[in-house]
Amino acid sequence: MEKQDIRALELSELTKALQELSEKPFRAKQIYEWLHKRLAVSFDEMTNLSKSLREKLSERFEIISAVLVDKRVSKKDGTMKFLFRLKDGSVVESVFMKYKHGNSVCISSQAGCRMGCRFCASALGGLERNLEVSEMLSQVYEIQRISGQRVSHIVIMGTGEPLDNYDNFLKFIHRISDEKGLNISQRNITASTCGLVDKIRELAEERLQITLAISLHASNDEMRKELMPVANRYTIAQVLEACRYYYQCTGRRITFEYSLVEGFNDSAGAAEELSSLLKGFNCHVNLIPVNPIKERNYRHSEEKYIQKFKLILEKNRINVTIRRELGGDIDAACGQLRKSYMDKEALEG
Ligand code: SAH
Repeated sequence: MEKQDIRALELSELTKALQELSEKPFRAKQIYEWLHKRLAVSFDEMTNLSKSLREKLSERFEIISAVLVDKRVSKKDGTMKFLFRLKDGSVVESVFMKYKHGNSVCISSQAGCRMGCRFCASALGGLERNLEVSEMLSQVYEIQRISGQRVSHIVIMGTGEPLDNYDNFLKFIHRISDEKGLNISQRNITASTCGLVDKIRELAEERLQITLAISLHASNDEMRKELMPVANRYTIAQVLEACRYYYQCTGRRITFEYSLVEGFNDSAGAAEELSSLLKGFNCHVNLIPVNPIKERNYRHSEEKYIQKFKLILEKNRINVTIRRELGGDIDAACGQLRKSYMDKEALEG
């Protein structure tokens, strides 16, 4: 019989499974705590369980953990980038970043991505598969274990489109914010989406307290279509409408991400157009100087254009920040480490 992934189980499911082994519910609580609070990776660590129970558990279950294959530490700012191998050999990357407000981990939600954004390294190989809940959890757990530092914030901005793996994404949020687990406040979690309108509406109705970040990257539909195929499915107006609904349901201010590509979406005209789109909307704009990937010739906007773009938004009373670049020396931009690893594997056969 194939062993069951024990970290995938909710407490109620674990309680039921243990009942079948004639164990009391409090055992399930203890095991859940070992798995999700104390981040155990083997049953042997669970020292308050009898040896025979640990043996029974290891016959029936396994603790599936992401296996570290590469780790890079930025000399500039302590950002750490991790490449993990999953059970079927897929690789995913995750990033640890230190901020004044706490330690943040950026996780991947899929192996690869099918959204096809032109500037994104993760889109190049297409979608391999969705990640399981335990595979998303494991990225956070392993980073906290390896670094020995408490993770207080999560961003779901690594490889993949979280709303394209909606059910697992939602379960992940519940699990990581569960007080019986790592208990990370939903207010400290940000999920970034390219804007799958139907799913944004569905998520709004969950009334979670997470921050939604929308990858907008353009000030009109024509411009957006050139960067993001998803713009052929939904107009900016539809995306904004769904965002208003999200705000209405949750009271959470939306973040709009805008990657500045030289000579493409970084003009004063685009800044004005973006301002009028977002006028009166309680939101925040995060400007991201595009991170060039070698497969495409998009270039980073010059500093003076970035500043000018920001000034125009500010003049129009829109909250705006420029994303601080972390880990520039370690391929920390989305999907680049995974991509270079996979290219190397392919070459070496
Ligand atoms: N699929 C989700 C989350 C993953 S990408 C989404 O689209 O939002 C996280 C953010 O990084 C997105 O805003 C994405 O558009 C942006 N991004 C991807 N590649 C980038 C690059 N090379 N330079 C700058 N931003 C990039």
